[in-house]
Amino acid sequence: MALTRIEQLCIDKGMKMTEQRRVIARVLSKATDHPDVEEVYERASALDKRISIATVYRTVRLFDEAGIIERHDFGNGRSRYEELTEDHHDHLINVKTDDVIEFSNPEIEALQQAIAREYGLRLVGHRLELYGVPLDGCQPTDPDKKDEG
Ligand SMILES: [Zn+2]
Repeated sequence: MALTRIEQLCIDKGMKMTEQRRVIARVLSKATDHPDVEEVYERASALDKRISIATVYRTVRLFDEAGIIERHDFGNGRSRYEELTEDHHDHLINVKTDDVIEFSNPEIEALQQAIAREYGLRLVGHRLELYGVPLDGCQPTDPDKKDEG
């Protein structure tokens, strides 16, 4: 089987790749959501029953510290993980459902650069998380109408 990107990065960084680490690396490479440790554990142990949650915790932390995966905290205290990729995106979190939408917006990117420049800095990175709740089917308030009550 071909190596996943995470497995290859681990090898490049001189990490010892045990069978269990490879399984966890594959689970993280395949994830299209932002799983927390428990979710990684569920998926990994479905592939290899011998994997314990402690191994998943250790391995995920190892990958995180090596800069192979990225850790997020989307506001509920649970760390979630995703593969670090070249293409940058930001996150919009539905706090009702915990769904995470990935987006990128060139205007926001440019604005962030401009803000940093204003303060004499060259931007080398940022983190942007937006938190929202569903609109409940209500139309946005019409600005021409006066508030009632
Ligand atoms: Zn993401």
